[in-house]
Amino acid sequence: MTGSADVGLAPYAADPARTRGRRYAEPPPEYRSEFQRDRDRIVHCNAFRRLTYKTQVFVNHEGDLYRTRVTHSLEVAQIARTVARALQLNETLTEAICLAHDLGHTPFGHAGQDALNACMREFGGFEHNLQSLRVVDQLEERYAEFDGLNLTFECREGILKHCSLENAKLLGELGQRFVRGQQPGLEAQLANLADAIAYNNHDVDDGVRAGLISVEELRGVALFDRYYSEVVARYPASAPRRQLHETIRRMVNALVVDLVTNAQRCIDTAGVKTIEQVREHERALVNLSPAMYAEHVELKRFLNRSLYRHPQVIEMTQRARQVVTDLFVALLADGSLLPLEHREAAARAEDAHSKAGRARVVADYVAGMTDRFAFQEHERIARVQASQP
Ligand code: MG
Repeated sequence: MTGSADVGLAPYAADPARTRGRRYAEPPPEYRSEFQRDRDRIVHCNAFRRLTYKTQVFVNHEGDLYRTRVTHSLEVAQIARTVARALQLNETLTEAICLAHDLGHTPFGHAGQDALNACMREFGGFEHNLQSLRVVDQLEERYAEFDGLNLTFECREGILKHCSLENAKLLGELGQRFVRGQQPGLEAQLANLADAIAYNNHDVDDGVRAGLISVEELRGVALFDRYYSEVVARYPASAPRRQLHETIRRMVNALVVDLVTNAQRCIDTAGVKTIEQVREHERALVNLSPAMYAEHVELKRFLNRSLYRHPQVIEMTQRARQVVTDLFVALLADGSLLPLEHREAAARAEDAHSKAGRARVVADYVAGMTDRFAFQEHERIARVQASQP
């Protein structure tokens, strides 16, 4: 009994019974669909647990209430599952993609990724989406017969949401859509949108909690002001925290309703009947309406300007960049600073691909670090270096 958990699917949804398969052939799962197996493997992997101690805007030790990468991933999955059900897409695959979408993130979010990309410039660069794929395709060591998690094509396609053309050419079948300018399945398109909806809204919450942005400033943003005005008019005596949460939940709801309505309209207009037609279609079909998209972008720009570039965030960002850069430089220059298994992997990679091979192993190691482990390693290496003559 395979595929039994995915019922009531639209004809253009990903169907686990017709998956394009896994890189290494495996017997079909019992009692679960192929996509349930994907999701379960993601939840059980090391990289998923590390997300608990990785952050995007706020560093892990700054406060217990801020989003971490794992709570972010759960919020993305919850938003996307609602939309998937409403559109009769494959909810399980959608969830799997969302839970895996940030597995390749470095410590300290975008600051860490930019620093590592700069470090890796002469060795092929570092892209976090590609790294998420590397985690599930190669880096996880859990199964006797293969490296990685051996996920289905559909799930891997969703995880790789962006990729440079240069790297796409090296990825075979999976990279072809970037080369040919094609779309991924609708579940992958949806995961992408849900990610943006989740972080825009939870960063409003975290930003206000941190005191870096204020409700007064947010009222200059149309989407926020519309729902905030509604909430304050209806619940004038409610505490400011509650009013803020009411506003955020109304914003998320409005975005989700708009997304479902608009995506269904686009799917119907395009007349796609199969996932192959979705992939061949000239543009993505899961999008916000133009009016809502404009408001969503306005909020995003506000956060860029006022939160992500807030002097306090910039200060932390610079420190994070420095930590990642120092770690990379020290570990590349002195392999004895690496733990034994990584030291051996670095030696093997150097034999096969010279210095770029070694650099990739160091980048994998640094990218896998949590925020706090990166700080600890940074201190340890500084101590070792200080004790050397
Ligand atoms: Mg994300």
